[in-house]
Amino acid sequence: MDALVLTGLKQLEVKDYDKPAIKPDEVLVHTAFAGICGTDKALYAGLPGSASAVPPIVLGHENSGVVAEVGENVTNVKVGDRVTVDPNIYCGQCKYCRTQRQELCEHLDAVGVTRDGGFAEYFTAPAKVVYPIPDNVSLKPRP
Ligand SMILES: [Zn+2]
Ligand SMILES: [Zn+2]
Repeated sequence: MDALVLTGLKQLEVKDYDKPAIKPDEVLVHTAFAGICGTDKALYAGLPGSASAVPPIVLGHENSGVVAEVGENVTNVKVGDRVTVDPNIYCGQCKYCRTQRQELCEHLDAVGVTRDGGFAEYFTAPAKVVYPIPDNVSLKPRP
């Protein structure tokens, strides 16, 4: 598949990547749209976003698409569902996560920041951050 990869400081390259494999609690999403956020500009320039991006990495954390595969433990979405993804994956264990202040999580993992994201034909995410969207909501973000 084609993936737009941040390969270094202010370096983006289209590369041929294998379609990513999913773990039992993950979802494979066939990307429809991936927004370009101010955070992507910061990551491109070598600045941290919600977390630091370490090249080589596929950016893109504001994504929509269609579920292509689900892991064996996934129950909230199924193949063919139209979905969007909350990029923020909180650890659930640190003092902030345990006191409902997840936005301060000490071990934040983020789709398109710390793990490969939506600037590719497919990307993966844990099912807990994947949300089905209704038929009357477009996969395309508003301008
Ligand atoms: Zn953003
Ligand atoms: Zn945490």
